[in-house]
Amino acid sequence: MDRVVIIGGGPGGYEAALVASQLGGAVTLIEDQGMGGSAVLTGTVPSKTLIATAEVMTEVRESAELGVRLRADEDDVEGGDPDRGVSADLAAVNTRVLDLATKQSADITERLLGEQVTLVAGRGRLDGPEQVVATLADGTQESYDADIVLVATGSRPRELPTARLDGERILSWRHLYALSELPERLIVVGSGVTGAEFASAYDALGCDVVLVSSRERVLPGEDADAAQVLEDVFARRGVDVLSRSRAESVVREGDGVVVTLTDGRQVRGSHCLLAVGSIPNTEDLGLETTRVETDRGGSIVVDRVSRTKARGVYAAGDCTGVLPLASVAAMQGRIAMYHALGDAVAPLDLLTVSSNVFTTPEIATVGVSQQQVDDHLVPAREVVLRLRGNPRAKMQGSRDGFVKLFCRSVTGIVIGGVVVAPRASELIYPIALAISQRLTVDQLSSSFTVYPSLSGSIAEAARRLHGSRSIT
Ligand SMILES: Cc1cc2nc3c(=O)[nH]c(=O)nc-3n(C[C@H](O)[C@H](O)[C@H](O)COP(=O)(O)OP(=O)(O)OC[C@H]3O[C@@H](n4cnc5c(N)ncnc54)[C@H](O)[C@@H]3O)c2cc1C
Repeated sequence: MDRVVIIGGGPGGYEAALVASQLGGAVTLIEDQGMGGSAVLTGTVPSKTLIATAEVMTEVRESAELGVRLRADEDDVEGGDPDRGVSADLAAVNTRVLDLATKQSADITERLLGEQVTLVAGRGRLDGPEQVVATLADGTQESYDADIVLVATGSRPRELPTARLDGERILSWRHLYALSELPERLIVVGSGVTGAEFASAYDALGCDVVLVSSRERVLPGEDADAAQVLEDVFARRGVDVLSRSRAESVVREGDGVVVTLTDGRQVRGSHCLLAVGSIPNTEDLGLETTRVETDRGGSIVVDRVSRTKARGVYAAGDCTGVLPLASVAAMQGRIAMYHALGDAVAPLDLLTVSSNVFTTPEIATVGVSQQQVDDHLVPAREVVLRLRGNPRAKMQGSRDGFVKLFCRSVTGIVIGGVVVAPRASELIYPIALAISQRLTVDQLSSSFTVYPSLSGSIAEAARRLHGSRSIT
């Protein structure tokens, strides 16, 4: 029986453990914070739970045009109350967030134990490629011999030397769930996915939000049309986006914070959230006792079946810097075990990865990007259908968003898509399926969609690409 030792119990590690056990390995999983990793305890799960509350708040607040009247609407507030009397009890929201994360972690623990995975609460470190040493909470050490090792240690928030986190006013995303009151004015530094999601959520919860973006537009890594929709929505809702503004320092001042920008301007708020990226957890892992290589940013170098340069040592998830998504971490972990334990394996294919930005509206993407098409790297035809033309969207009062579809110029095979809509994360799946199964636009549009539905726009977009002229 192959002895498999996994360091890190996030999606990269625990999904691998389940597969390894299924394939007959004797699996030991070493985790020092709690099963589920930062995905479950501080990252994906808590943030999306918080965002669920924010979404409901937005829907209620914007329900007036659907004929919904709240008591507060009748109160005599001069100029009307833009919040319509809706407010968030952040202490209750955060208690729910943390409870849900703890339960999710417990569910994962139970599942792993049910699959005969040995769980070790401690910090793991390699001692050569075939041995892992775990340091337990009481300082004692245990050694595990391994035929196969998987490193899945994740990443942590990047800090700035001139912006010391204090957990009270100057925060990373890990600190947010300890807040018992809504920040009065939250300055979010960083307009990537994490910064944009929290700016959108806290604005919906009722905070004044300032978003400091070092780039020309928010979400620099995403589809530019989608980012523009979000900027327009932010502007309408009163989120103050400071573009081309780089934060130089963040300091406490009395009951608030002062963010100084590189051009000398100062922005004052009650709290500051730093969302300036992540750093891979690859120090103190004993990698130097093996042939595992890291790149300049500290990420472990892996191939498409998660192999490192050391025989028998694999790596998965954020510590590899491949794509910081829980779904990718889990897939890398599973692929590693399929490969290591001799099962059939398909190498990781990033072109079929769906990802989503959980702002309001959501932005979901899969396959080739507009940038690749515009740069003539991929010959493609494309179509964009605005959501405001969709009957279901009209009924729901949703105006912001679109469906964009790319297909191969000659064959019509679907190769990419972007959906900006409420619940775009659910709508992207048919496009992802079409890409992975190499379906043509005609095949995609030949299936019935429900009338009325937002997915009708996906089929309609595919229909519009039938036989149309190449744009490249
Ligand atoms: C705010 C936020 C929101 C996000 N939202 C999404 C989303 O909506 N969708 C999505 O797909 N992704 C999302 N992500 C990204 C996602 O959380 C990560 O890609 C995912 O957690 C990576 O999984 P992992 O297994 O590599 O690492 P992690 O989940 O970070 O788990 C690694 C674990 O290893 C442990 N560990 C580290 N070193 C050691 C050691 N030496 N010994 C023992 N244990 C160790 C850590 O304590 C941690 O528990 C989000 C991230 C953040 C920060």
